[in-house]
Amino acid sequence: MEKKKIYVLACGGTIAGRAALADDLTGYAAGQTSIDELLEAVPQLADYADVQGEQFCNIDSSDMTEALWLSLANRVQEVADREDVDGIVITHGTDTMEETAYFLDLTVHTIKPVVLTGSMRPATAISADGPLNLLEAVQAASWPDLGKYGVVIVMNSTVHSARFVEKTDTTHADTFKGRQMGCLGYMQDGRPRLYQQPLRKHTWSSDLAAPKELPAVAIVYAYVGLTADDVRRLAQGKVGLVITGLGHGKMPESVWHALQPLMEQGLVVVRAARALGGMVTQVPAYDGTVTADSLTPQKAKILLQLALAHTTDREKIQAIFDAY
Ligand code: ASP
Repeated sequence: MEKKKIYVLACGGTIAGRAALADDLTGYAAGQTSIDELLEAVPQLADYADVQGEQFCNIDSSDMTEALWLSLANRVQEVADREDVDGIVITHGTDTMEETAYFLDLTVHTIKPVVLTGSMRPATAISADGPLNLLEAVQAASWPDLGKYGVVIVMNSTVHSARFVEKTDTTHADTFKGRQMGCLGYMQDGRPRLYQQPLRKHTWSSDLAAPKELPAVAIVYAYVGLTADDVRRLAQGKVGLVITGLGHGKMPESVWHALQPLMEQGLVVVRAARALGGMVTQVPAYDGTVTADSLTPQKAKILLQLALAHTTDREKIQAIFDAY
């Protein structure tokens, strides 16, 4: 079989991290190793694909910005549109990988595989997980059918949909889970074996485009003691607010009263949940809000930003949340 042409965009993270000692798994610096060094460390890549690398940035993903997202989406689109590229791998820190993956899932329009990967242990660690993750990401990106399922994360031999995946453990290698819906499948014998497919819109079926700048949206976390003033302060200068609500997307009555005049002035409020499962749906008590369905607050924020770039109509925004 002819080898596929895989383009690797490197963004940094622990996969490019270095520590002074091989047994130091937490006190390392992320984003130190270059893309050339990452690729050289896995000579087996050449057995599976013709791999070309590009250093997009080299950061700890805690420092990812919306401006970088916008230029990454443009770059991934440019590369995906090239005839001499069959699939794309993005190496990235794990802390915000699920957000970048979902942003690209909505804004890059391609049927070619786009795979994010990284590692939980730095390159210098005993049993570093980066080399195998990178190899499996390249193997996955070489499998043409994978692009049908949108942007995926391949980590720890597991293939996850960007829409459903979450980082669930601060340090363990087995951290990415599709907690509510499961994974798409697993990597085995050099290729993905898939069992499920995401039914929400993504990549080739997404109508959402990345704007020049993302509308200002903040996330509020609801807890006992959250005040109306806290929320008013956070809402200042924002066009949208995602509430990480209690239970089925609820909030203290005082907060809800404070939000209503702001909503009349145009603030779009999305209700998500801090509970670890389930969805938030419409109830009459919170008329005028948009519901996040099963999206985590950080992904609801991304979808709200892209929706607001298209429309400020609440019902149209709700329709977007129901489809993506
Ligand atoms: N702090 C690192 C990052 O997100 C963690 C990792 O990559 O695992 O860049």
